[in-house]
Amino acid sequence: MALLETRNLSKSFGGLQAINDVSLKVEPNTVHGLIGPNGSGKSTFFNLLTGVYQPDAGSYIEFNGIDITNKPAHYIAEQGLSRTFQLLRLYGELSVLDNVMVGYHPHTKYSPLAPFFKGAEVRRQDAIVRDEMMELLEFIGLAEHAEIPAAELSGGQRRLLALGRAIATRPKLLLLDEPGAGLSPVNVDNLMATIMTLKERYNLTIVVVEHILKVVMNTCETVSVLDHGQKISEGTPEFVKNDPAVVEAYLGR
Ligand code: ADP
Ligand code: MG
Repeated sequence: MALLETRNLSKSFGGLQAINDVSLKVEPNTVHGLIGPNGSGKSTFFNLLTGVYQPDAGSYIEFNGIDITNKPAHYIAEQGLSRTFQLLRLYGELSVLDNVMVGYHPHTKYSPLAPFFKGAEVRRQDAIVRDEMMELLEFIGLAEHAEIPAAELSGGQRRLLALGRAIATRPKLLLLDEPGAGLSPVNVDNLMATIMTLKERYNLTIVVVEHILKVVMNTCETVSVLDHGQKISEGTPEFVKNDPAVVEAYLGR
């Protein structure tokens, strides 16, 4: 069974059809690429999956066997669907560690009264979460920067931190919107290696939007291609790269 399935997913903004009748399946434990020219609807697709936008009537989205069409964003996140944003959203003034702790928070099972009775059990839970988050920071190579404000990280490190924060929510499916944007080629390689390690370590399924062809070719089992909001091709990276419809879409811009 697919982990994620959209059927006839559509979204228009006024007269503009940003997503047009897209049916797509993402198989569990795979890396699925989503590519297409600028403005083809990739970010909108993610916004629909995560409940940021409501799809048009007739659309259907199923995640992990649950109908998530028109469900609120927090409900969808609770089901295990997490994302990073094309533009980074970090808490610059908070420490690196606190930034991933924010990601983890929905899973901590504190009583609302916990702050008033900060007893041994709560302190024990705190320590466990902290250890786990430090382990995650080790994985993404930021452990030694755990205590500095996120704003002091380099651009590449901030991208890693955003990834870490998304993973801290323990997602089943992780949506990555242009994780390599603005990175040097070496950092792109590091980032992709990190993503693959994290996928194995945390048993993730990943949908990645990426412009950098090498990233898509090296990491994705399946690639779907959008153009003007429609799915125009799908298959192995090798297949879509040579699909005339895809070549046409990219040349036509
Ligand atoms: P991509 O991520 O593939 O570059 P987007 O999903 O960001 O493309 O945008 C697809 C189209 O939808 C674009 O024409 C964009 O201008 C439009 N669009 C996206 N979000 C909105 C919005 N909130 N309001 C109006 N138009 C939007
Ligand atoms: Mg985009």
